[in-house]
Amino acid sequence: MTKSAQTNLDDAYRQILEALGEMGYPIADDNFRDTARRAARALTELVLPVPEIDRAVDDLVAKSFTAKYDEMVISKHNVSFGVCPHHLLPVIYRISLAYLPSEKVLGISKLSRLARLLSKRPVLQEQLTQDLAEVLYSRLASRGSAIYIEGLHLCMAARGTEAHEARVVTSAVRGVFRDQQVTRQEFLDLVTAAPLSLI
Ligand SMILES: [Zn+2]
Repeated sequence: MTKSAQTNLDDAYRQILEALGEMGYPIADDNFRDTARRAARALTELVLPVPEIDRAVDDLVAKSFTAKYDEMVISKHNVSFGVCPHHLLPVIYRISLAYLPSEKVLGISKLSRLARLLSKRPVLQEQLTQDLAEVLYSRLASRGSAIYIEGLHLCMAARGTEAHEARVVTSAVRGVFRDQQVTRQEFLDLVTAAPLSLI
């Protein structure tokens, strides 16, 4: 995060508070004392700088290892957070990722990390879905990749009365997942099955 970006965010939230004051809220109260700074910091936890994300993805891909494993690798129901580009309101994602390795294999925890990283951008869910599929296909030189995302968009859920439960579902497939209906279906069956109950 550059100093200028940080300063702009702090200033912007101070202006938002001023507007709230004009709307009649007691912004001089203790509860609001550090709010501009806190809110700016909170946003930077939901939106990471592009160079930081690029570096982290490079690192992650570089940590792939060679293995004689060519079955589907799948990481299901990873929960991550971001903001939508239209309202800058939070989105809660549940992301499932799969790929069919060729030579390079990623540790399973790296798949969750990749999902979390690319979520922290103000991009459309469709774009996030495509970008994840692309990393697992092109950067890993895999035989195919598949992504399935359910997004709970607060811009939809918190406004209006009809959309409280609205989930946006997107998916993207590359390589074998695109070419072979059976493989694609196997993935979809796995990720849309009811989650295991622990109680
Ligand atoms: Zn939105």
